[in-house]
Amino acid sequence: MDIHEYQAKEILARFGVPVPRGGLAWSPEQAAFRAREIGPAPYVVKAQIHSGGRGEAGGVKLCTTDSDVRAYAETLFGKTLCTKQTGERGKDIYRLWVEEASDIARELYLGFVLDRKSERIMIVASQEGGTEIEDLAEEQPDTLIRMVIDPAVGLVGYQARELAFELGLEGPQVNQMVAVLQACYRAYSDLDATMVEINPLVVTGAGDLIALDAKMSFDTNALYRRPEVAALRDPSQEDPREAMAADNGLAYVGLDGDIGCIINGAGLAMATMDMLKLSGGEPANFLDIGGGASPERVCQAFRTVLSDANVNVILVNIFAGINRCDWIAKGVVQAYKEVGLTIPVVVRLAGTNVEAGQDIIRTSDLPITVADTLAEAAEAAVAHRSQPKAA
Ligand code: GDP
Ligand code: MN
Repeated sequence: MDIHEYQAKEILARFGVPVPRGGLAWSPEQAAFRAREIGPAPYVVKAQIHSGGRGEAGGVKLCTTDSDVRAYAETLFGKTLCTKQTGERGKDIYRLWVEEASDIARELYLGFVLDRKSERIMIVASQEGGTEIEDLAEEQPDTLIRMVIDPAVGLVGYQARELAFELGLEGPQVNQMVAVLQACYRAYSDLDATMVEINPLVVTGAGDLIALDAKMSFDTNALYRRPEVAALRDPSQEDPREAMAADNGLAYVGLDGDIGCIINGAGLAMATMDMLKLSGGEPANFLDIGGGASPERVCQAFRTVLSDANVNVILVNIFAGINRCDWIAKGVVQAYKEVGLTIPVVVRLAGTNVEAGQDIIRTSDLPITVADTLAEAAEAAVAHRSQPKAA
């Protein structure tokens, strides 16, 4: 789960990372008020969306008066900002962060990520801050410094100092950097984060370190024990299809095609997507309804898949081991009626109670195609998609 920059700054500040003074605004008036609250200009106004690359996309601006802040805020609220990371869909701006502008002498990059290879938290840092990490890794990989943290002892002092030296910091900056690193590490491990990023971490004209931008992501599976983190969720920033699926406890990933998929098991879901592609189709989603799917759950899966307007045919592929085909079939028939389906459905069932399941579908007199094999099902789905939508 991602959170906003201002939320990440609040958390990191609590752990001891220096951040600029600022305030949150929900309206242009409030943004101007925040500027007056801060005091002397200049100010930076920053669109709060779950994405980096806002600067390049026009979502970050230096303002010299509170009326400037207000005018700029007026252009941002309600707008959809498209950055390199969001792609064409973009993200809507409902919140702005207004802060005192910082005087920048150097921009550093600092990130904490989970390194799956070493099974440890890894620090990634660079003297070339302000550039997105993906671009750094591609264009200036030699500038990246990596350091793995041993979980038994945590981030130790000499390691942190070594990193500070490698970043070219000197004098009091070294101890400031050690404090920043320890704070980020504690925030990361205490809150079940999967990523902490400060880009840029700035050396000011006066020679002090300050976090100009901050990003944090959290392990969704740990949210149950981090209610204060879970409360920071902002559904307006999520893919609406995925937010709906998450609310219903379904494993769903939105894709760009037009064939909606309802499948049990991640492996079967991937095999089905491969088979669709092989037959010339494009899946609209990945959806794993899991084992023991009740008719209600099947209905929810249909609603989730149909919330994507691109979907014009649905493929249901169930291998029932824990599941039962007759249950799934009942769910499909119920969903067809309850959800008011108007698009073709192809169903392929295998496993426990398969004959009973197929019977339920055949005798329902609904326009549902029953396929015996995965290949047949994929071909039928691809054939159906080219047909015009039924009224
Ligand atoms: P991002 O583009 O979404 O990563 O947003 P950032 O918060 O990183 O801001 C983008 C860029 O705006 C930074 O790399 C800085 O160059 C610039 N910027 C942000 N805040 C300030 C500030 O207080 N003073 C100055 N001079 N520039 C800033
Ligand atoms: Mn940034």
